[in-house]
Amino acid sequence: MDTLASPLTVPPSSLTIDEFIQTYASHPVYMAPRGPQLHAKNWQAEAALRMFLNNLSAEVAEDPEQLVVYGGTGQAARTPQDARKIVALLLTLEEDESLLIQSGKPVGKVRSHAEAPRVLIANSNLVPKWATWEHFNQLRERGLMMYGQMTAGSWIYIGSQGILQGTFETFAACGRLHYENDLRHKLVVSGGLGGMGGAQPLAATMTGATFLGVDIDPERIRKRLETGYLDKMTFDYREAMRLSLAARDKGEAVSIGLVGDIGDVLEKLLQDGITPDILTDQTSAHDPLNGYVPHGMSLPQALALRGADPVMYRERSLKSMARHVGFMLELQRRGSRTFDYGNNLREYAQQGGEPNAFQIPGFVPEYIRPLFCGGKGPFRWVALSGDPEDIKVTDEALKALFPENTHLINWLNQAAMRVEFQGLPSRICWLGMGEREKAGLLFNQLVREGKVKAPIVIGRDHLDCGSVASPYRETEGMLDGSDAVSDWPLLNLMANASGGATWVSFHHGGGVGMGYSQHAGMVILADGTDRADRCLRRVLHNDPALGIFRHADAGYDTAQENAQKFGLEL
Ligand code: NAD
Repeated sequence: MDTLASPLTVPPSSLTIDEFIQTYASHPVYMAPRGPQLHAKNWQAEAALRMFLNNLSAEVAEDPEQLVVYGGTGQAARTPQDARKIVALLLTLEEDESLLIQSGKPVGKVRSHAEAPRVLIANSNLVPKWATWEHFNQLRERGLMMYGQMTAGSWIYIGSQGILQGTFETFAACGRLHYENDLRHKLVVSGGLGGMGGAQPLAATMTGATFLGVDIDPERIRKRLETGYLDKMTFDYREAMRLSLAARDKGEAVSIGLVGDIGDVLEKLLQDGITPDILTDQTSAHDPLNGYVPHGMSLPQALALRGADPVMYRERSLKSMARHVGFMLELQRRGSRTFDYGNNLREYAQQGGEPNAFQIPGFVPEYIRPLFCGGKGPFRWVALSGDPEDIKVTDEALKALFPENTHLINWLNQAAMRVEFQGLPSRICWLGMGEREKAGLLFNQLVREGKVKAPIVIGRDHLDCGSVASPYRETEGMLDGSDAVSDWPLLNLMANASGGATWVSFHHGGGVGMGYSQHAGMVILADGTDRADRCLRRVLHNDPALGIFRHADAGYDTAQENAQKFGLEL
């Protein structure tokens, strides 16, 4: 007989579907319910429901009115009507049904079973020959598709913290490689302080560096200030440089947000003879029409041109990216450690006329691949209770579970002090093969024993070791040249669906835009049941194992050693 989770003993909510929608999903005001009370018919559907609503809540989403969560136009649902329908369907979904979502629209339910995923999601997928922004945008205008980015359309975005750990790891790895593991007295410069890019200031200061971030949209910078990710904001280049250089010289870990065009600011840095120590970019370059803002125009002018003349807009965007990357290349020549941070800026700069764009290395081959070879990747979890205390409990439990992992403990301590939650309280850390399964089972035990007040959702970014094919990012420069092979994320999807993840997704175009990536998502619930134990054991083993299979197959020694260590060899 399966044990029941303690939260299931609380009587379910008596709200009708209409009352629930009125309270939690009245467009554009979305909010996830908190606490141990069920609104759906089971915790698996409730988890998907809460995470969907959390993705769209104003504390988390960049633009709830447009259903945009992050990453340019990354949406959680196609239209407000679809969002409402998703909510209604999740409220009534049975344990032997799985809901099908096609690019943000619910399209059917299939028969399944209690250990199968409750939701099966496919977002933005196009047959390769048609996989361009132009074709996608035509379909989108006709209401046939939406852009799911990575965790927007797969309902596991947790705000800027989601990328914080990855960015922290990346800056730290850069420091280890180039600056004797010490980023004090070093200036990091980057463009874009949006949903993902907004993690950069905090990640940089957590490594001890001084940070200057440039964004054309003051509202985006203000959001980072409000959430504690950024220290100071200014509209004035001179003031920004005075603050940045003084902090760098004093070795102060301070972050400054400057309103402006990143290309213009880099040009001024060159003119003033200022060379950042580390230089990267997180503008929405992956989308030249609806993301990047071209040089020489104000934000309102850009928004007007987008609607009035998309062809001209795109052309200006590509030219601006070429100019922007031209300045990055010159700063690289002058000594800035420069890397592409996964937004496809190099490709579009090349299309815009900068032939040397790919002289800038990508961050994955440079800093992250060694972690992928150990099945390491961005493991995240969310307290469905809404109580920050539950995250504290999981943090402490994880520290006790891995007492030898000082890097992890240091991260968890810093995160507890410096990360403000957005929406439902959550945590992220990078865990590898073996560790993820242990952590998942531990969380399930915490739920079972009532040490946390409601079930915990565990997920990850699609940017992971075995879940993505993206030749300009996660799979750039693979040892065997298999960068563009997308069998791997499909195998990852199938392995996680068969293992019993609570919802799974397969997307196209995340991070780097249409035509450039295919990737799979996975979320699994720890609700304290024996069923969850079985699913967690399978899924949190299989998911990182795919990363080791992929990298061992590509010929990486450490992945082959790890395959041997974890008994993954055939
Ligand atoms: P976002 O749309 O929320 O933010 C992008 C920001 O860039 C906006 O604030 C916008 O105002 C600003 N911007 C656009 N053009 C500009 C210009 N010329 N000068 C200055 N600012 C400009 O996107 P996001 O979620 O922050 O993601 C940023 C990029 O990073 C995307 O391309 C995304 O696909 C990519 N990404 C990278 C990773 C990674 O791991 N490195 C992960 C996810 C996404």
